[in-house]
Amino acid sequence: MEEKESPVRGSCIFCRIVKGEIPSTIIFEDDILVSFLDIAPAISGHSLIVTKQHFETIAETPDEVIQHIALFAKKLTKAMSFALAAEGFNLLMNNKKVAGQLVPHAHVHVIPRYARDGIDLNWRPRKTLPNMLKECAEKIKRFL
Ligand SMILES: [Zn+2]
Repeated sequence: MEEKESPVRGSCIFCRIVKGEIPSTIIFEDDILVSFLDIAPAISGHSLIVTKQHFETIAETPDEVIQHIALFAKKLTKAMSFALAAEGFNLLMNNKKVAGQLVPHAHVHVIPRYARDGIDLNWRPRKTLPNMLKECAEKIKRFL
């Protein structure tokens, strides 16, 4: 894959981790991704999967890179089941600041889950009506 320079690359914390300029607890690395433990974990084992090349969000990330990350995430959850006795997982990718993305470099959180672990990722469901659902689905479907 061709290396692309980005204006933010020099100061991007994840690019610096990828380059080894900032230390991290790496659990896996290949040509496309690096996975390391989150330094501010929701729970022990909370890992990040970051692209080696700088892409801001899922929208800019090439399909083959997304596929590779998804397959690695699956492998990582299996490893967490054996190594950490995880009973479940959250895979989470925040895209853009408004969605809680703190580092503008594409990354996926893999969070091991246990009964009564106290992690709160839940939102309060809003009331909706069948016609609202239908209208919203029609809007989205036009662009798929
Ligand atoms: Zn970056």
